[in-house]
Order: sequence, then structure tokens, then C-alpha cells
Amino acid sequence: MELLKQRILKDGRALDEHVLLVDSFLNNQVDPALMRAVGEEFAARFKDAGVTRVATIETSGIAPAVMTAEALGVPMVIMKKSLSSILKDDILQTEVFSFTKNKSYTLTLKKTYMHPEDRVLVIDDFLANGEAAFGAFRLVEAAGATPVGLGTVIAKVFQPGIDKLREAGYRVEALAPVSRMGENIIEFE
Ligand code: 5GP
Repeated sequence: MELLKQRILKDGRALDEHVLLVDSFLNNQVDPALMRAVGEEFAARFKDAGVTRVATIETSGIAPAVMTAEALGVPMVIMKKSLSSILKDDILQTEVFSFTKNKSYTLTLKKTYMHPEDRVLVIDDFLANGEAAFGAFRLVEAAGATPVGLGTVIAKVFQPGIDKLREAGYRVEALAPVSRMGENIIEFE
């Protein structure tokens, strides 16, 4: 997706060879027009997959996920990283190791919003080692629903997640596949 790649080159910053900062349009501030274009691109790529629900992991997945859900005309479900005291019953949980925080957290899905007949597209902001995506798929499968794939805004394809997910049989669509990073270097596949 050319528009997104140009924006990453203009406003993104590689912290080192492993971490990309896109705070100004995806993580801390959101560009709604760009997110709408991202949502339309995911919807076009998955238009024949029979998606009935989009799911994402809070927080940075929400903007691209809601735009994708709008473009597909389906609801969007949020998987929570922290458990509030009002979300106690009717939940599914799995442990996920966080790339950015370097520690595990419990990912929680409210069962009410995912059913065995659902075909679920998982959307996230970044794909690195695949831990978050595998965790999201575990919850989709625990609900008895069918995961149709992962749409990631950015995939760092030099990290193992993309290959691991595809080897496990999951479809992965990456709008900006980054092949190499370094100080002042961002290259796409
Ligand atoms: P994974 O679980 O695939 O190792 O990492 C994916 C999650 O870690 C994403 O949901 C995202 O929040 C975060 N993440 C991974 N790599 C980066 C990165 O380079 N920059 C930012 N901002 N977040 C990242």
C-alpha cells in the first residue's frame, strides 16, 4: 500500500534495527483518513473470505480494525490486555508475551461477542514475533469460531512472526512489509 509506505518513510522513525516508531499517525496520534484507507485495503483483500467479525487487541489495533469492520459492514471486537473488575464472567483468556513490554500479559475476550459460526479477521498495528497474533487466534478458536487470517498494518518481515503464522496455516496480509531497519533506514520488501 503505497500511501502507507510513503507515510512511514516521511513520519516513521527506526529506533534501532528492531523497533519502528509511528507515533504520529498510528500509536499515539491517529490519522483517521489514513486509517480509513487502511481499512478499505484490508476489506478489499479479505472481501471473499466471508468475514462476519473483525477482532483486534487494544490499543493500537483499534483504529485500523474499526475502519476495516466499517468497510466490511461487520462488528469489531476488542480483546483486552488488562482485566477490569466488571469483566469477570463469560470470558476466554490466554497468555501473550509482549514484544514492546518484554513481559507477559493476559489477553481477554468476552465470549458474548464471538460465536462458533463466526469467521473472524484479526487486525493489528504491527507484526513482529507473532505472539499477539497467535494469542488472538487462540481466543478465536477457543470461542469455536474460524480465524480467516491476520491483517497487519506493518509487518517486520525480518522477524519470525510472519513465517511462523503462515507455516501454522494462517493467512497474513501486511500492508507495509518492512524488510530492513536501522538508524535512518527503513526499507520495504
Ligand atoms: P508480536 O506479538 O508480533 O511480537 O508483536 C506485535 C505487537 O507488539 C503489536 O501489537 C505492537 O503493539 C507491538 N510491536 C511490535 N513491534 C513493534 C514496533 O516496531 N513498533 C511498535 N510501535 N510496536 C510494535
